[in-house]
Amino acid sequence: MVFPEFKNSFELWNIFDGTTAIAKWLKIYGIEAEISDAGKVTQQIIQGLGGFYGVASLANSEIVKILNKISRTPISPSVQHQKLKHEINNASKGDIFPCRNFEMLVERHAVELGLKLQCTKCSSWSWYSLRQLDEKLQCSLCLREFGFPIVDPHLSTWSYRLIGPFAIPNYANGGYASSLSIRFFANILDINVEPKLTWSAGQILNLSPGVKVEADFILWYQRKRHLETDYPTELIFGEAKSFRGENVEEKKFIKDAFQQDDVDRMKKLAIRFPGSVLVFATMKHPNELSPNEIYRIAKLAAWGREFVKERNQTRAPVIMLTGMELFASHSLRETWRKAGGKHARMLELAGIELDSLRVFADLTQQLYLGMPSYFEWLEAKRKKKRTK
Ligand SMILES: [Zn+2]
Repeated sequence: MVFPEFKNSFELWNIFDGTTAIAKWLKIYGIEAEISDAGKVTQQIIQGLGGFYGVASLANSEIVKILNKISRTPISPSVQHQKLKHEINNASKGDIFPCRNFEMLVERHAVELGLKLQCTKCSSWSWYSLRQLDEKLQCSLCLREFGFPIVDPHLSTWSYRLIGPFAIPNYANGGYASSLSIRFFANILDINVEPKLTWSAGQILNLSPGVKVEADFILWYQRKRHLETDYPTELIFGEAKSFRGENVEEKKFIKDAFQQDDVDRMKKLAIRFPGSVLVFATMKHPNELSPNEIYRIAKLAAWGREFVKERNQTRAPVIMLTGMELFASHSLRETWRKAGGKHARMLELAGIELDSLRVFADLTQQLYLGMPSYFEWLEAKRKKKRTK
């Protein structure tokens, strides 16, 4: 299997979006693929926010939690206008452009302003868009007509309602985690050498008759080089999760964000596409990863470290991303440097090679999966062979 060379991909980009381009490429290898429901949501989020600079307004764990909380409000999920502004600005304290997050979400239509009014017939409150406002309104609950409170206009509340993909509960059905993961590779991993990235949100791949595998995102990633030809394109498959399994009440029935099924699915993709990069991304803080999920993913990562002679590269480098990377406000270097400790030490190890996915995979395996470095692991393996 040959990964695509897309040196003049700007033309390609104009003709198809990344999702279509990647689906067409898969077809050449006999794999039919279709965008998944979760993939549609992710695509709507990224496009709705006007690309990854807009997605940056979601790069804050408190903000996605606020949006998720509103989405779970029954009947008309909306929130009083000052309350939302206050909550988001509070959550953004310490960000580089704290007020921009709120403005971005409003201006790019993650939320829509409207008026909440109480029906005079059944006393229930409903939300009305600016366009719907009139002297006579229909109650969304009892469906009867009632008059706008022209005598007491203060008996109403300006409120923001979530719209489109943002109104979908469970962190937009995983769409926030996927959007932030794709943004990570586009804008955060290495801001000095912006890689060439073609992205697709979730697709379902028909690997063989009866074997369907879903990936939450698929990327073509190419490192650039100055004055030399660019590096070959890498194929990335990603599995993205929100905060599942982090709460005490959740822990009783949802054990981990990443289940064995998720790991098996990614392995199937790696077998079909040798040399591809596998990404496990979660919005959870590194401390919230459970020993079980670490064990599962580390086992796959060890399998992926095996060298494939024909390809002259490792079988499937596994990258682990946590909330620390997904919610990075500006760049990975800045985030890891601020974190200090072992994160800062990894930066020294990476040097200028941070944008190399194989180097980066090795670092995240040491940080989050408790694995020895690739070279230590290789050395230990050689020693074992010698003693045999
Ligand atoms: Zn009513």
